[in-house]
Amino acid sequence: MFIKLNGNILISESTIMEKKTNIKTQNYQQENLQSERRRNLLQQTTEYSVNFLDSLESRRVSPSQDELNELEKLNVPLQDESIEPESVIKLLSEVGSKTTIANAGGRYFGFIIGGSHPVSLAANWLAGSWDQNGGLIVTSPFNAKIEEITSDWLKEILPVSKESVAGFVTGVTVANFCGLAAARHSILKKQGWNVESDGLFGAPEIKVVIGEHAHGSLLKALSLVGFGSKRVLTVPVDKQGGMLADKFPEDIDERTIVCLQSGSVNTGAFDPADKIIPECKKKGAWVHVDGAFGLWAGASPKKSYLTKGVELADSWATDAHKWLNVPYDSGIVFVKKSDDLRSAMSMEAAYLDQSGSRIPYHYTPELSKKARAIEIYATLRSLGRKAIADLIERTCSHAEKFAEGLSKAGYRILNDVVVNQVLVSFGRSEKTDKIISEIQKDGTCWVGGTKWNGESAMRISVSSWATTDDDVERSLNAMLRIAKLYS
Ligand SMILES: *Cc1c(COP(=O)(O)O)cnc(C)c1O
Repeated sequence: MFIKLNGNILISESTIMEKKTNIKTQNYQQENLQSERRRNLLQQTTEYSVNFLDSLESRRVSPSQDELNELEKLNVPLQDESIEPESVIKLLSEVGSKTTIANAGGRYFGFIIGGSHPVSLAANWLAGSWDQNGGLIVTSPFNAKIEEITSDWLKEILPVSKESVAGFVTGVTVANFCGLAAARHSILKKQGWNVESDGLFGAPEIKVVIGEHAHGSLLKALSLVGFGSKRVLTVPVDKQGGMLADKFPEDIDERTIVCLQSGSVNTGAFDPADKIIPECKKKGAWVHVDGAFGLWAGASPKKSYLTKGVELADSWATDAHKWLNVPYDSGIVFVKKSDDLRSAMSMEAAYLDQSGSRIPYHYTPELSKKARAIEIYATLRSLGRKAIADLIERTCSHAEKFAEGLSKAGYRILNDVVVNQVLVSFGRSEKTDKIISEIQKDGTCWVGGTKWNGESAMRISVSSWATTDDDVERSLNAMLRIAKLYS
């Protein structure tokens, strides 16, 4: 039998079979080559990575302008022909090692950005080589199992309901979105409305309550689930930014979602969950907790007083890429009633797992997804409860040292340092802004700025496993040296 190939050449099927065999042989030889070459490429890459990590001790935290100019080396027209992978990786390593921000080291205190614990980075590399599609059990029984085990461990150490289920997502913005979608499902279902099939047009109204200092990404999540970021009731806060329980609205009911925060990005303040949640539950409201970093205070016996009552909520969002120090991007949503999360996230009307097993994509917005629980598993397993508590307590005590040192030198600490966040004023806003920008340029450490009660403040967040006493001392000295210069 003859068939058409390439539109015009007629060849016999047997010829194709021969060709296929030939190609196969060739491929096989290539694979051998590839395997040898792949090994060298990946070993070389490991070498680059490890050298980069070794350089963090002496490296500037932020790249200098000269170094940033090197980014242009990447900016070339895309060519037609292939380029050896070795040279592409070499280029990335040369440019990236200098121009990246050194938050993997111990002297980065901007935003709330952790590093990567070595075991989590190693797990990340391993998981990268496995390239699992974590959505289904058939695509990765490994991921399905490790998600189950990891969520059980997380439920043991974090202040969430022991009955809850977890979804492994990219970060807290998405975890907040998932928690709110579950809330929306549950509330509207009780009102006889199926939001997954009928949408929000014409649906019974849902009231949303947040604190005055809720994180901007919570407002974004509210807008993504269709509640609108402006249509919310805002509760006034105390001097630290925690919700005032006695200013909490009276008229909440079973059609209300209350969003609490465990850990304000500025002060580290916690909304008083133990006072607010029992009242909300009595009235039938859904309580969601944004505990992006603060939920981890619950994993420390010394700090868990801050999260008292948080476990009484209905849904929780937290990050693994902040205080647990796993690589980006890694967040977790917990929802007390499994059905609420699964109904909100399911693609099919009949969402029930046929096999009775937990299918990962039933708990997250994504179908295909990275098997990101692997890094969390490795970190929890390697550290164990005590070292996790130590990570939380150690970073908090570093924050206290910063506050002490700056306060002794006469600068104002604007918050009660309850966790790992410190707010500092050097005087008038312009002066504080100038000092922050000079500290950033100096390169010894990196701190960001924020606004607090209308004035500029320097914000120090100690979130990395890597920060040592020496890092704190070097960074504090740099801050004091620069502050003095501009005072
Ligand atoms: C960081 C943070 C967020 C946003 O989390 P991402 O992981 O960046 O999406 C939300 N809320 C709080 C309190 C945070 O600290």
